[in-house]
Amino acid sequence: MRAEALEAMVEAAAAGYGNPTGAHHRARIARRLVDDARDQVADAVGAEPSEVIFCGSGTEADNLAIFGAHHHAVAQGRSGQVACSAVEHHAVLHPVEHLAGTVLRVDSHGQLDLEQLTSIATDDLAVVSVMLANNESGVIQRLEEVRAILDEHAPNALLHTDAVQAFPWLDLTEYAAPADLVSMSGHKFGGPKGVGVLIVRSRAQIAAQILGGGQEFELRSGTHNVAGIASFGAAAAAMTGDRAHVVERIGTLRDRLVGGIKAVLPDTVESARDALPNQDEVTTTVDKVAGSAHMCFPGIESEALLFMLERVGIYASAASSCASGAQDPSHVLAAMGYPRELAAGSLRMSLGFGTTDEDIDRALSVIPECVQTLRSAAA
Ligand code: PLP
Repeated sequence: MRAEALEAMVEAAAAGYGNPTGAHHRARIARRLVDDARDQVADAVGAEPSEVIFCGSGTEADNLAIFGAHHHAVAQGRSGQVACSAVEHHAVLHPVEHLAGTVLRVDSHGQLDLEQLTSIATDDLAVVSVMLANNESGVIQRLEEVRAILDEHAPNALLHTDAVQAFPWLDLTEYAAPADLVSMSGHKFGGPKGVGVLIVRSRAQIAAQILGGGQEFELRSGTHNVAGIASFGAAAAAMTGDRAHVVERIGTLRDRLVGGIKAVLPDTVESARDALPNQDEVTTTVDKVAGSAHMCFPGIESEALLFMLERVGIYASAASSCASGAQDPSHVLAAMGYPRELAAGSLRMSLGFGTTDEDIDRALSVIPECVQTLRSAAA
C-alpha cells in the first residue's frame, strides 16, 4: 500500500467517523473527506466530481455498468442488448453472459475483432464493455476505434471500459476519454481493497442496482466507507503524481525480466507479442502496460512452477485467481487462440511501483532454472 493511502485511511477512520449524509459538525467533517477524495479521483481521470461514483469494489463497478445500462435501456422500452470482449475479467464477462449478451472475439494479440463489433452494432445495443488493459496479458485496447463504430452504428450504446488494471499505468484523462463508463479499483494502485469507482459521464444514463438512502447521486446507496474512500483518493493523487516516472522505470525492468528469460529459454512465448507456435504472424508493436510480464513455457505445468517459485519467495500467478485461490484455466489465452498445452505453462508476473532492480536480478537467477528443472523431470 502507498504510504499516503495508509496515512489517509488511518486519519479518516478517526476524524471521519461521522456519517457524511448527516448535517451536524461531525457529519460535515466526514463529508469533506469524501468530497476531497471525489475531487482527487475526478482530477486523475479527467471527469467532473459529480461523475465519480464510489462503490465497494472493481467488481461492483463493472456490474453496475453492465446491469445499470441494460436496465435503463429496458426501462426506456428497448431490448437492452449487451456485449463485451472475450478477454474481459469475470466481473464483466459473467454479467454479460447472465444477460445472454454477445462475447466478441479477439485476435492472437488480444485485440478486439472490430468487424464483429460492427456486425452487432445496432439501435438495440445498450452497452459494450472493452477493457482498457488486460489483467493477464497487459494488452491495451484502442477505445477510440470502438467509440467510432458505436457513434456510427449504435447511437444508444454506452461504451464501458474496465480500467482497473490500466489506471496505474495509463493517463485515463486521455486513454479513457472515449468511454462513457469507467471502472477502477483501489487495490491495483497502492490504495485500499474493497473500494471501487465507476465514472458515469453526465451524458450517460444508467439505472441504480443498489437501492436505499440514495447516496452517490442516487446511483449507489449505502453509508460511505469514509476511510477507504479517503485512502482511494490519496492513492490516486500520489500515483498520478509519479506515474510517468514509475512507468519508465518499471517498463525497463519488465523488458529486462522478459528479455533475460527469453535469452536463456528461447522457446518462451511472450503473450500477445510473440507468434504462437505454428503461426507466422509476429508483432512486437502491440501495446502492453508497463507492469505486465506474461509468458508461456512450452512443456511445463504452471502449478508446479508456481509452487517452486513460492518456495524461493517469488509470488506469481498463472491466470486470474478465483475465490478459492485456485487457478482457473485462462479464458484470456483461450480467446487469443493459445493451444491448451501452451496455456498450461503460463506465468503471470506483476511489477509495481515497489519493484526493484534486485527483485529482477533475483527472478532472473531463479525462473529459468526452475523451468529447466521441471522440463528435465518431465523428460
Ligand atoms: N477487473 C479487472 C481487470 C481486475 O483485474 C479485477 C481484479 O483483479 C477486477 C475487475 C475486480 O476488482 P475487485 O477485486 O476490486 O473486485
